Amino acid sequence: MTTAVEINEEASEWRTAQRQFDTAAEIIGLEPELREILREVQREFTCHFPVEMDDGRIEVFTGYRVQHNINRGPAKGGIRYHPDVSLDEVKALAMWMTWKCAVVNIPFGGAKGGVIVDPHRLSVRELERMTRRFASEISILIGPDRDIPAPDLNTDAQVMAWIMDTLSMHAGYSVTASVTGKPIEVGGSLGRVDATGRGVTICALAALEHLGITPHSARVAVQGFGNVGSVSARLLEEAGCTIVAVSDEYSGLLNPLGLPVRRLIEHRRRTGRLEGFEGADAIPSEGPLTADCDVLVPAAIGNQITSRNAGRIRARLIVEGANGPTTPEADHILEKNGVFLVPDILANAGGVTVSYFEWVQDLQAFFWSEHEVNQKLQAIMQRAFREILAVAGERRLPMRMAAYGQAVQRVASATRDRGLYP
Ligand code: NAD
Repeated sequence: MTTAVEINEEASEWRTAQRQFDTAAEIIGLEPELREILREVQREFTCHFPVEMDDGRIEVFTGYRVQHNINRGPAKGGIRYHPDVSLDEVKALAMWMTWKCAVVNIPFGGAKGGVIVDPHRLSVRELERMTRRFASEISILIGPDRDIPAPDLNTDAQVMAWIMDTLSMHAGYSVTASVTGKPIEVGGSLGRVDATGRGVTICALAALEHLGITPHSARVAVQGFGNVGSVSARLLEEAGCTIVAVSDEYSGLLNPLGLPVRRLIEHRRRTGRLEGFEGADAIPSEGPLTADCDVLVPAAIGNQITSRNAGRIRARLIVEGANGPTTPEADHILEKNGVFLVPDILANAGGVTVSYFEWVQDLQAFFWSEHEVNQKLQAIMQRAFREILAVAGERRLPMRMAAYGQAVQRVASATRDRGLYP
């Protein structure tokens, strides 16, 4: 029987990140000194900052910015607003960003940030004041050459615009390359909003081809219907797949004959939820995880596929849109059951790849067409998928460990080349 302590342990994303790294380090035979350096974060920053609420009260919020490693380039990583944000979670996410940038071979290190807050309870003005205060706090760390934030859970282009504007007020001129995922009018890139879901779709289609399943015969379940989940569902439907189950944090929907994704997106835009959509059965938020389907896309939050439900997963293919949705315990069960899994550090790297394009375009003040962005994204994602699949085949490894091995190898080489490790 699993004890409460074991379940809590399994739920620690930092522990998951370190265990995944340890396994990869073992597989590639990484020297002990480099293991010590890379299994910790380089910098962690905590701040507590006051924000004036609309009723005149002052509330103090806690935020974090963590840089795991900057040997391959400036630090890069999203900022999330969520009541469950913790330093450990942000550390794990920063480490995953390092590996993600290395898997797709873009010149960034890994970072992440977050504020402990439920943004749905703030007014727009409160959200803006909180964002600007947090941006001021982390301004000592971030900037185009040092650390470049992006959107993540509950943050969007508007939040990025406020952060960029706050940094620009400090600098006295527009520092557009300091943040990615911005609105187009202030230096954003075409294609950025869809980029993560597009990358998930490119990986899913490549994996389906590898498994000999045609998109037209593939039934897909998606957990989470925000940026990543809804775009993945829409693009997979456009590619011929049938979307049979979706969910958000409140509830889920199931229809084995297929859900009309564009109408669902419109319904969610109008009502803020999936609930109440006609023509589908109601299921719980975690329903898509164990739904009868061929492809599962977890695209919500971390720690959703655990030892408690992994054995009940019916999909043959999992493409991780979310960061850290699967625990190492669940990984073992899925592997034993022959589930093919495209890991987060590969599957959801489309977002940071187009963020990289946005940063390049801002630095050059020369902007690309959406077609150009999508083509370049497809080339990078398909190359990375092929490389990882080849490593997995050659070394008889699951895709997660193949991706980790490749990424850790690249970061370790950069560290050795720079002589940071005597
Ligand atoms: P988002 O805020 O736009 O959407 C999150 C969605 O998940 C919402 O629909 C929310 O209702 C749902 N959700 C939350 N808790 C849930 C639960 N317990 N069960 C079911 N649904 C739940 O966020 P996003 O940007 O789409 O990010 C989703 C995931 O993808 C996160 O793990 C994030 O770190 C990861 N990710 C995002 C990007 C990006 O570019 N946005 C890039 C890489 C990875």
